[in-house]
Amino acid sequence: MTWVPPCKLLYLYSWFMSMKGFLGLLLFLTTSGSLHSETVLVSILNKHSCSAILISPDKGSYRLEADGAELFVLEKNELLYVSMKGEELFLSKLSGSPGIFSSVSLVSAEGRGGFTVRSVVPLTQEKYYYGNLNLSVDYERIKMINAVDEDIYLAGVVEAESGTSSTEMFYKAHSIICRTYLYNNLDRHMDEGFHLCDEVHCQVYKGRLTSSGIINDAVSSTSGKVITYGNGDLITAAFHSNCGGQTVNSQDIWLISRPYLRSVHDPYCRYGKNAKWKLNVGLDEWRSYLRSMGISGSHNLSDPSIFCFSQQSRSVFYRIENSSIPLRQIRSDWNLKSAFFEIDIAESGQEVIIRGKGYGHGAGLCQEGAMEMAARGYNFLDILQFYYTDISVRDIDSLVY
Ligand SMILES: [Zn+2]
Ligand SMILES: [Zn+2]
Repeated sequence: MTWVPPCKLLYLYSWFMSMKGFLGLLLFLTTSGSLHSETVLVSILNKHSCSAILISPDKGSYRLEADGAELFVLEKNELLYVSMKGEELFLSKLSGSPGIFSSVSLVSAEGRGGFTVRSVVPLTQEKYYYGNLNLSVDYERIKMINAVDEDIYLAGVVEAESGTSSTEMFYKAHSIICRTYLYNNLDRHMDEGFHLCDEVHCQVYKGRLTSSGIINDAVSSTSGKVITYGNGDLITAAFHSNCGGQTVNSQDIWLISRPYLRSVHDPYCRYGKNAKWKLNVGLDEWRSYLRSMGISGSHNLSDPSIFCFSQQSRSVFYRIENSSIPLRQIRSDWNLKSAFFEIDIAESGQEVIIRGKGYGHGAGLCQEGAMEMAARGYNFLDILQFYYTDISVRDIDSLVY
């Protein structure tokens, strides 16, 4: 990565937002991968393929700029209807239609503005955002890029990824994880002209916080902090809901070895709400599944006792006689909460009982364990260093690329 000072970023961003056509796009594509971004560009309502939307400022007014010219000011609570017209955008409001344009930007007139967006086709709920909005048509949908302050974006992500019922210290740890992900993935959607989408593919972002200030405080008090390994490399800050008492080595689930994603025994999550689960499967159904995986066995799977399987500590394979299936494969095939499970035969003799621990892939930070650590008084560094091996927490501005 190439270091770019924040002031230059703002300059580059405003330049990009004001540039139109190929030259502006080219500029952005060649610089966005190296941004230490104080303004994050997020594709919102990304999965909905919207063809008609309603926008309304609810905090301050917005200047509306279209194809390089300022058209008008959209006042607080005024409605703007935007729909696709081929490769362009048709604008309409109560006082009439301003016309058809290829690119439209809504820029907060006073700064720190906010607006609501609702998709009309397809119909979605209203969502609330801070910052500015850039609209264009891309891949037969209205592409909506929310240009938002980094810490406001991160607060929204932390709430969407971890809920509203934990402590500030837990949110501090999670803020640092989400910021690390952000900086590590600035180029993920570079060819589409934004940094991150608002889906699970990147980080879930639903706009403004619905909760009180505790998450905002956690994000702002850890502003700029990221997790590094070795000489300052940003880590892949994986996390999951509950590890079931033991996290996994990254190579056991993703076939990629990361020295900081090492299996650790976790005593903190055992009473979490996702600590245990159970699934009953008919014996015949289990037999046919195993056969579909190429397993027949010397008894032709007639003796149910060969299905029994225990996993005191994490294993990688489910073994039957001389055959095996990766546990991550079974988890995926059966949509199980985790790959940390044991198998017994029910008293009826007609079912296998899959008893599992935890929820999620199991690598990196265990959210329910981290919440418990925070509740017991550990600080964010204790928490992060427990789940990520040999890492440091550093300020992004101190890293030299
Ligand atoms: Zn994405
Ligand atoms: Zn755990």
